[in-house]
Amino acid sequence: MSLYWTDIQRKRLVELDADANTLERAFDDKDQRNREFQTLEKGLVASHRRQLDALRSGPRRPRLCRLEDVLVESLVSHGFVQVSTPMLMSRGLLARMAITADHPLFQQVYWVDRDKCLRPMLAPHLYYVIKDLLRLWEKPVRIFEVGTCFRKETEGARHAAEFTMLNLCEFGLPETDRQQRLESFAALVMESAGIDGYRLETETSAVYGSTLDVVSDDGLELGSGAMGPHPLDRAWRITDTWVGIGFGLERLLMDAEGGSNLSRFGRSISYLDGIRLNI
Ligand code: ATP
Ligand code: MG
Repeated sequence: MSLYWTDIQRKRLVELDADANTLERAFDDKDQRNREFQTLEKGLVASHRRQLDALRSGPRRPRLCRLEDVLVESLVSHGFVQVSTPMLMSRGLLARMAITADHPLFQQVYWVDRDKCLRPMLAPHLYYVIKDLLRLWEKPVRIFEVGTCFRKETEGARHAAEFTMLNLCEFGLPETDRQQRLESFAALVMESAGIDGYRLETETSAVYGSTLDVVSDDGLELGSGAMGPHPLDRAWRITDTWVGIGFGLERLLMDAEGGSNLSRFGRSISYLDGIRLNI
C-alpha cells in the first residue's frame, strides 16, 4: 500500500510552493516519507531565504505593487486618466448596478454599516465619475482605477476575500469599433503583465448579461469585459457607446509567475512578495 504526505506535511509544502508532482508523491513506508519531507522542506526553506535576500538587494517591492505601476504607466500612456475612488461604497450605488438582495453578488458583500459596504467591484464609482466627465470632456473619454475590492468567497485557490482589481473603460466611440477596442485593451494589459497565452470567450454574467472574458491558457479567468449601451446605463442617464474590462491583478500574477495559490500574490502578512516568512 502506498503512503502519502500527512496533512501537516502537505500544508507546509503548499505554503512553501512545492510543485504539483512533489505534492502527489507516494512512499513505501513512513520513515522514507518523513526523511524525504525533511530534505524537501530544508531545500525549499533555503530557496525562500535566497529569494528574500534577492528581494532585499533587488527590486525591494512586491510584484503586486510593481505590476500596478507597469499597468498604470501603460494605460496613462495610451490616453487613459487614472481615478482614485473610496473603498467604502454606498448601498444605493450598488443598487444602481442592480446588485440588490436577489442578486448572487449581494450575498458576497461585506457590510460596514447599514448603508455602506466594502466595494466588491469598481464599476459603480467609475460610472459615477464618468457621467460628469462625459459632460465636461470631449469624447472619447478613457478612465481606469486600480484598487482593492472585497468579496465573501467560498472557493479558495483562485479567490481571495480581498483582491486588487483594474477596471478600465472607454466611452464615446462608434458601436462598430467595440469588439476591436476590447480586444486591443485586453492585448495591452496582457502585454504589460507579461502574459503571451490567453483567449477571449463570451460568457453570461450576473451583472452585465453577456461578457467577453479574458481566459488564460490554463482556463483561469483573468478579466471580464462588457460593452454598452447597456440597460444599466439608464440609472446614470448615460447614452454613449462604451467598452470596459475588469482584471484581477493577483490572477495576472498567478498566471505570469506560475503556481496555483492565489494568496501568495495578494496583500499578506504571511508572505512578502510571494515568499513565505515563517521559514
Ligand atoms: P470568478 O467567476 O472567477 O469568481 P467573477 O466573474 O465573479 O470571477 P468579475 O466580477 O468578472 O469576477 O471580476 C473581474 C475580475 O476580478 C475577474 O476576472 C478576476 O480576475 C478578478 N476576481 C474576481 N473575484 C476575485 C477574487 N475573489 N479573488 C481574486 N480575483 C478575483
Ligand atoms: Mg467575470
